[in-house]
Amino acid sequence: MPELSLSEVLELDRRHVWHPYGPMPGQREPLVVESAGGVRLKLADGSGELVDGMSSWWSAIHGYNHPVLNEAAREQLARMSHVMFGGLTHEPAVRLAKLLADMSPKGLEHVFLADSGSVSVEVAIKMCLQYWRSLGRPEKRRLLTWRGGYHGDTWHPMSVCDPEGGMHELWAGALPRQVFADAPPAGYEEAYAGHLREMVERHAGELAAVIVEPVVQGAGGMRFHSPAYLRVLREVCDAHDVLLVFDEIATGFGRTGALFAAEHAAVAPDVMCVGKALTGGYMTMAATLCTERVAEGISRGEVPVLAHGPTFMGNPLAAAVACASIELLLGQDWAAEVKRIEAGLRDGLAEAAGLPGVRDVRVLGAIGVVQLDHEVDVAAATRAAVAEGVWLRPFRDLIYTMPPYVTADDDVARIARAVCAAARVG
Ligand SMILES: *Cc1c(COP(=O)(O)O)cnc(C)c1O
Repeated sequence: MPELSLSEVLELDRRHVWHPYGPMPGQREPLVVESAGGVRLKLADGSGELVDGMSSWWSAIHGYNHPVLNEAAREQLARMSHVMFGGLTHEPAVRLAKLLADMSPKGLEHVFLADSGSVSVEVAIKMCLQYWRSLGRPEKRRLLTWRGGYHGDTWHPMSVCDPEGGMHELWAGALPRQVFADAPPAGYEEAYAGHLREMVERHAGELAAVIVEPVVQGAGGMRFHSPAYLRVLREVCDAHDVLLVFDEIATGFGRTGALFAAEHAAVAPDVMCVGKALTGGYMTMAATLCTERVAEGISRGEVPVLAHGPTFMGNPLAAAVACASIELLLGQDWAAEVKRIEAGLRDGLAEAAGLPGVRDVRVLGAIGVVQLDHEVDVAAATRAAVAEGVWLRPFRDLIYTMPPYVTADDDVARIARAVCAAARVG
């Protein structure tokens, strides 16, 4: 039985609890969720259920309270929920590493289990800098990325987020200064490919790596670009001794219609980050994968170890659920489900293109985006979506959705109606 009344929850939340990108004390009243099952969030105020259009930020791909994932957690809980990973190992972590290595683009064989997406990006950056240090080239310690990206909220990932208009402008003078190329255009343009080549060539002597989100830029603006740019990056990085990192934290595990977005370009990076959907949205866990070349390079250095080891590294509970989530995904025709949702979103969002104030409507895989020509009124847009029975979380000029893969056609249609309703008032 709940111990707090609804108004007590809201009052204590306002007084004590930070929320993502929120002020303290809190100003907006959040909705209180009592439980969740399938694609529905049950609200504590008795007003009913909302269809989740967000997959809890890309993560809950199989929906909530899934019997297979619950069972994996229960079974692991009865053995051990955690043991330290220094000097010890266990089956869930080893199985997960093998699953990830087997399913990932070719050559990514070594797996570092991190505790959040941002930390996995920190580890990726540390791997790249340490690789060049070990090879006697410590001056190669800057990163190149393109504008419009997002790689997390901890310090080094912030330095490769879009420096303007994004969430981290505030820190412009304090962050390490990285090299920024222009944001990638949606379609392939030879001039932009030339710009990428030129930037990498010019800075190659000081670059440890290029880091980008492949095909979809997420929290930096929900923009899509031609996979051909990834091939350009692979070629120019190879030609000029620069490592290539793909941040697949949002795009991994089928979201864009390929298991990993890198597959749209048939390109493999040297280092890859995954997170978000890794545990099917059950627990926080991420991973950084690298090639034999990177691992071997690091191990040849004067300090021959990767000096990173979170307390909760390889958490058995999260690893067991991650294994179950990946097996659940690969054991079904996930690509057909993502295609089905893509078709539903294309259908349902088509009318948004004609609405006043709408700049662009785009769909790729199980991702639907309506971009306005102005900042969204988040409160009004959220109310409009909730009135349609749907949970959305718009930001900047974007009303967008990435539903769980198990969302039925009528619920996909309902989500699309809610996005349109939010676009009308937002
Ligand atoms: C969400 C996200 C991150 C950060 O992951 P957290 O688990 O929130 O730290 C990094 N990169 C990309 C592309 C993301 O979408």
